[in-house]
Amino acid sequence: MREKILEVLKSYDLDKVKIATLGSHSALNILRGAKDEGFETICICREREKFVYENFGIADEIVVLNDFKDLLQDKIQERLRKDNVILIPHGSFNAYIGRFDSLLVPIFGNRKLMEWEIDREKQKEWLSRAGVKLPKTYSSPSEIDGLVIVKYPGAKGGKGYFIASNKDDFYKKAMKVVESGMISEEDVEKAEIQQYIVGANIYFSFFYSRVFDRIELIAIDRRYESTADALGKIPADEQLKTEITPTYTVVGNFPIVLRESLLIQAFEAAEKIVEVSKEIAYPGMVGAFCIESVFDENAEMYVFEISARIVAGTNVGIPNSPYSYILFGENMYMGRRIAREIKMAIGQGIIEEIIY
Ligand code: AMP
Ligand code: AMP
Repeated sequence: MREKILEVLKSYDLDKVKIATLGSHSALNILRGAKDEGFETICICREREKFVYENFGIADEIVVLNDFKDLLQDKIQERLRKDNVILIPHGSFNAYIGRFDSLLVPIFGNRKLMEWEIDREKQKEWLSRAGVKLPKTYSSPSEIDGLVIVKYPGAKGGKGYFIASNKDDFYKKAMKVVESGMISEEDVEKAEIQQYIVGANIYFSFFYSRVFDRIELIAIDRRYESTADALGKIPADEQLKTEITPTYTVVGNFPIVLRESLLIQAFEAAEKIVEVSKEIAYPGMVGAFCIESVFDENAEMYVFEISARIVAGTNVGIPNSPYSYILFGENMYMGRRIAREIKMAIGQGIIEEIIY
């Protein structure tokens, strides 16, 4: 696969590279960043959302698809290759396309690692090998011996997750989520049951630069989740009467500035995660990645997930986060950081190192 992509890259006019992405998730961030670094941009979106991308004026061209999956159609791919396009993948690529075996357009990043990201077992192996502290996982509902969070396959943005405290509670709540249509009964069987860490959620958006051979902290955020973040607004007695189950559908993000003495835990985790990435999926981590964590009452960091591409939480860092400003002394944000890396890699003749 990698050979085929590098073959395509060889046919490219590197002075005329355009940056393209799917119109959702962090496309505004990516396309603004590309323009700030002098690239021409293409937004590939659905008819309904076209208005948004036209409105912000960050796309030089807009390609309309009926469905995001149509990106895999030969004629669309052909059109993108003709324009020397480098695609920037984000969460909607995972959510709506999944595997990219038939996508013969160069991607910034490592598509093999994105496969590790969407497979919970592989992800756990990656994080375990990195030696970071993980929440305990239970192999069956009968083993539940404390507060757990129940998750489903794929990157679904927390939709349908629920919290349970024992086996009966698990089945009762699972059935409720099935009845609401958010998940299927099959999903219940495939659910991952994870120890629920009571603490503060912190999402670290890092960038692994091949050009500078270093890990950069670009932004930190937390999510705004429905209905988990709505519960505090309802008095406890009403919560008990209505039996509201917190769910975790993401609707937005907040920026975070972390207590400085805690940063070292995140950098240590990032270093180990990058190290292992090189062993599991050549050429290892490229560009944006996110470590999703909870800090408990002892300010100890538990990593519960990793994303091997830009996450939408980086949208809080435009035009800069405190961290990207400290590092670069100029406006810098994930979309722009990606475009800067592509520009520098082309300049130094090492573009094939950041493409898969
Ligand atoms: P969307 O195109 O908005 O459906 O996003 C695709 C996937 O990316 C979703 O299923 C979510 O898992 C994730 N996602 C989208 N926006 C955010 C966000 N603001 N924060 C965290 N995750 C997000
Ligand atoms: P995820 O889709 O895995 O990023 O998780 C969605 C949301 O569930 C997170 O933003 C957290 O609020 C929550 N969450 C996930 N795993 C845990 C955990 N092990 N302990 C506590 N909260 C969690």
